[in-house]
Formats: sequence, C-alpha cells, structure tokens
Amino acid sequence: MGRAGLRFWSAVLALAVFMVDVLTPLEGAVAVLYVVAILLAARTNRRNDIVVAATGCIVLTVVAYLTSHDLQTIASPALRALVSLAAIGITTLLVLQNHAATTRLAAQARLLNLSHDMIFVRDRGGVITFWNKTAEQTYGWSADEAVGQLADKLLRTSYAERRETIEAGLLETGRWEGRVEQRTKAGAVLTVDARWALQHNHLGKPVGVLETHTDVTDRVAAHNALVQSEQRYRRMFDASRIGVVEEDWSGLRAALDALPAQGAELRDYMARNPDFVRQARGLARITDVNPALQKMAGAASAAAFIENVDKLLGENDRSFVDALVAFAQGERFHEGETELVRLDGRKVPVLFTITFSPRSDEDHDVLVFVIDITERRQAQDALLAAQAELAHAARVATLGELSASIAHEVNQPLAAIVTSGEAGLRWLRRDIPDLKEVATTIGHVVAQGRRASEIVTRIRTFLKKAPPEQGVLHVGEIIEEATELVARELARDDVALVVETAPDLPPVRGDRVQLQQVLVNLLINAGQAMSGRPGSRTITLRATVDGEMLGITVQDSGPGIQADDLPRLFDPFFTTKDGGMGMGLAICRTTVEAHGGRLSVASTPGSGATFHLTLPHSQEHALP
Ligand code: ADP
Repeated sequence: MGRAGLRFWSAVLALAVFMVDVLTPLEGAVAVLYVVAILLAARTNRRNDIVVAATGCIVLTVVAYLTSHDLQTIASPALRALVSLAAIGITTLLVLQNHAATTRLAAQARLLNLSHDMIFVRDRGGVITFWNKTAEQTYGWSADEAVGQLADKLLRTSYAERRETIEAGLLETGRWEGRVEQRTKAGAVLTVDARWALQHNHLGKPVGVLETHTDVTDRVAAHNALVQSEQRYRRMFDASRIGVVEEDWSGLRAALDALPAQGAELRDYMARNPDFVRQARGLARITDVNPALQKMAGAASAAAFIENVDKLLGENDRSFVDALVAFAQGERFHEGETELVRLDGRKVPVLFTITFSPRSDEDHDVLVFVIDITERRQAQDALLAAQAELAHAARVATLGELSASIAHEVNQPLAAIVTSGEAGLRWLRRDIPDLKEVATTIGHVVAQGRRASEIVTRIRTFLKKAPPEQGVLHVGEIIEEATELVARELARDDVALVVETAPDLPPVRGDRVQLQQVLVNLLINAGQAMSGRPGSRTITLRATVDGEMLGITVQDSGPGIQADDLPRLFDPFFTTKDGGMGMGLAICRTTVEAHGGRLSVASTPGSGATFHLTLPHSQEHALP
C-alpha cells in the first residue's frame, strides 16, 4: 500500500474509533484502538505522519471525552481516557524511536551502496541477507535475486585454502582476508580480494558475516603480465650471448645537474676537466651483469664485479664521455666502441649500446649491451693483411711481367745483332776483308742495340702505367720500319711478305716504338707459325681506313689457331711453343688498347690466322 493509502486508512480508522467512542456506550475504552491508526501511519516511514497521526488521535480522544462527559465528572471514564492517551503517547514514542533507528540503518545501507567494493551480509547458514549496489552491478544479480540465496553457491566461490580452515580462523579472530575467485551471473571469472568480518548479536553470539570484495582481476592480470615480462627479461639476461650490464646512473644525474656547464658546452667542460670524468666513472654504479658479460670480463660470478664501471673501462677510453653527453642530453640510446678491461688486465674490443630510461623517470637505470668484436677485428686485420699481400703479389707479378716482356722484346733485336755480327765477321774473315760491308753490318748492330735499349725504356714506362708518348705518326712509316726490322728473320724462314697500304692513310697519335713492336710481334708470330711447313709461306699486311678507325690486318697461310686456344690467346704466358714465353700477344693487345684501339683474331684452322687491329686516326693532325 502506498503512503497516501496508509495515511487515508489511518485517518479513516481514527475517525471510526472516534465515532464509536462518541456514539456508543463503550466509552473511553475504545480509544485504545487509536494505537492501530498510529501504527498504520508509522508504516509510511515519515516522522511527520506519525506526529500528525498521534496529535490527531489525542485531539479526537479528548474531544470524544469532552462531548460524552462533562468536565466536572471525574470518574472512571476520565481514567479510561487517560489510559488511552497514555497508550497513544507510549506507542507514538516507540514508533518514533523505531523510525529513528530505521532511518539510521537506511543511511548506513546507503553508505554501503556508495562503496566501490561489493558488500554483502550472510547469516550463519551462508544465506545472503544484504547485497549492495556494486555487488548487483559487478556480479549481475539484483538484491532481490541474491537475498535468500547461499552465497558460495550463487557465486561458485573457489578458495585457495580449505573452507573449514577459513571458517575456523574466522571464528577465532572474527576476521578473514584472502583472494578468491567468483563467478558472475554472466559466467565471467573474477579474482577478488575478500575481507570477512564476523557479526555478533548482543549476547556475543555470531549471527552473520559481512563480506567486502575488491575486484582485482585487472590488477592480477597486469601483475601476471609484469611477472612474465620480468621472467622473459631474466631468461634473456641469463641466456643471451650478448653481454648485459645493469647500471644505476642516479649519482651521475645529480653530478651532471650540479655542473655549471650544460648542453653543448658539456663536452668542452669535460675535455677541460678530466677529473670530473674520472669521478663520474666511479658514479656509474653496476648493479648486475649477466653470465655472457662475466665470461667476457673473465669473472667467475657477478659478485666478483667491481661496483662501478671505472675499472671496466681502460685508461684511454673515450666512449664514456660520449655516453655521458648523450645521457645529459636526454637521448634514449647511445652506441659506441671501446675496449673492455678484463679482470686479468687483458683488453677486449667491444661494441656497445646503452639504453637510458626516459628523463622523466625517477630512477636512472641504464642497460648496456656489449658485444665482443675480437673475432671481427681479427677478421678485419686478416683482410688487411691479405690485401697487403695481394698488393705485394701484384707488384711481384708486375716485376715478373716486366722482366718477361723485356726478355721477349729484346730477344728479337739481340738475335738481329747476332745475325749482323756474324755477317760482319764473315766479311772480315775473307781473304780480302770487305770493309764497306763490315761497316754496314756494324751499323746494323749499333742500330739494333739502340733499339733494344729503347724497347726496354718503353716497356718500363708502359708497365709503370705512364701514358704512352703521343706523337703524330704516319702509319705507312711505322709499317715500313717494322717490316724492315723483321725482313732478315722472315727471309731466313723463306717467308714472303706482301704489304698493301691504301693511299692517303690518315695519321694516328701514339708511341712510335710501341706500335712498331706490335707489328713486329704479329709478323714474327706469323713467320714462326709457318716456318718449316710445306707449301707457300706468305704474310699479307694490309692497312685501310674504316670510318673513324684505321685498320691493319696481318694474315698468314700457316696452320691457324685451335678453337680451344682462341679464348686464352691474349693471356700473358699463354704459349704453344716449346721455347715460347707467351707475352707477345698480351703486350700487343695492351698496347693497342692503350692507344684507343682493338686487337682481335680470326682463324680457320688449317688455312691460317688473321690478326686485325684498329687504331683511331686523327684528321686534325694530318701530316703534310
Ligand atoms: P709466344 O709467341 O711466345 O708463344 P705470343 O703471345 O706471341 O707468345 O703467342 C701466343 C700463342 O699464340 C703462340 O704460342 C701460338 O700458339 C699462337 N699464335 C700467335 N700467332 C699465331 C699465328 N699467326 N698463327 C698461329 N698461332 C699463333
């Protein structure tokens, strides 16, 4: 029934009692029934209603008494009316007290509802008698649903300890605290920190338990994640092959903050104050080192470690200053290279990365990751040594090439000198020596000797990679001189030489002796290829202009070149001859290429070889 209804019925009842009191002979006794009207009004839980009802009843009692009896009569009806009034008064007092108590309780219950924790009360049998708002929201059951249920059954509570042990402890101390798991109406599992307090009645007998639950599911999950992360870090720390040093730089932070120099001036300051740096090294406190670093430093355990980095860094370390500057400037990472001094004094080259915690952090823990680069250094040193060796080998090879080239190129003029010398001797030993011929042959000897010396000079400059002498040369003249040089040798082998040069050949730029040598080599090779072979032995030398280039071919009627030999023909030291050196064609090709031309060969085995060389001609310097 609503408040208005209660008020209405209370008033109706009071009036009914009044009517009966006034209209019936029952007299004052019926007035006791006003108590019921007051009790009805009290049900509205409003103090005012109680007061109004009580006042109304008293007024009605007095009025009824006065209308039924005159004032003079002091007799038993008056007594009865007084008793009624007393009854009304006492009831009102009690009801008001009850109301006050209820109001207090309601206020307390409201406080419990304000709590962020889940709060409920259960009786000794475990049946829920109170269930606060947060419990409703978190566990999902409304107070109406929860009240009257067995708490453990409803929440499917799982305890870490045995329930009996908990109960015994609770009875003994009146309290219990612990972590339990509860299930919500939706089935989710919540981890809560539970606090129980035993409630006693006025006789000291336990009547129920007040439980408060704090939801710590997220906190527990976060904590577990943290623990896992810490375990992962530990595993990495312990098992990593990279050395890790944990250091505390809070002392350094204070020392840096106290410095007069900041920012860009810091480096200068430290250069001028080596004492500060030395002192700072003592302030970088080592808190832990992993096994990999212990091994690197030759330490048996982390305990063997000195408490700061001072001893770990060598006297000449420059990396610490750089790291300090990075730290002072609030950088998060710093990389560097230094030498780590082992406990036995040996030095290990290392590469390191330091990670600093953000500047805003209170703690100044830094992690230093260290890699031993001894092997890399060794590999680098080995590489440098190998490079030096290679360079040396190349020099030796050049020397070999130089001597081989000289030997090869000088061989021909020497042979010519011997031939001329022998001819001279023959003219001298005649009965009547022909001095004119002797003079001619000695002239040849002198010319060939000079030539040999020129060749040596040219080859040396050539191998020094000095640019060739750049004269403007007439190709016809070079061909003429070259054929002259080999004429005797070819004649000895019975080789015919046919020279076909196009008229008005443009000049080329280059070194006269070197280009002569190219032709001499090609002609001698052709002669040697045909020597001792049956059939006609002819070398045809042609010179033509082909666009930008001037082309010279040396064609023989020898055996030609085996297909297998073709790819290696121009390699130094490739030869098929018994006493051959294999330098001629190599020198020819290098010479031609140094003059901006090309040297190639075409051959059909059995029908001779044709060497083709091209040289760029220079119209601007055309000879008159
Ligand atoms: P060498 O004459 O000392 O052997 P070359 O470099 O001048 O060195 O020649 C290399 C090789 O090329 C020769 O051994 C020979 O086999 C081959 N060769 C060169 N010219 C000819 C040619 N005109 N006909 C056939 N083979 C040739």
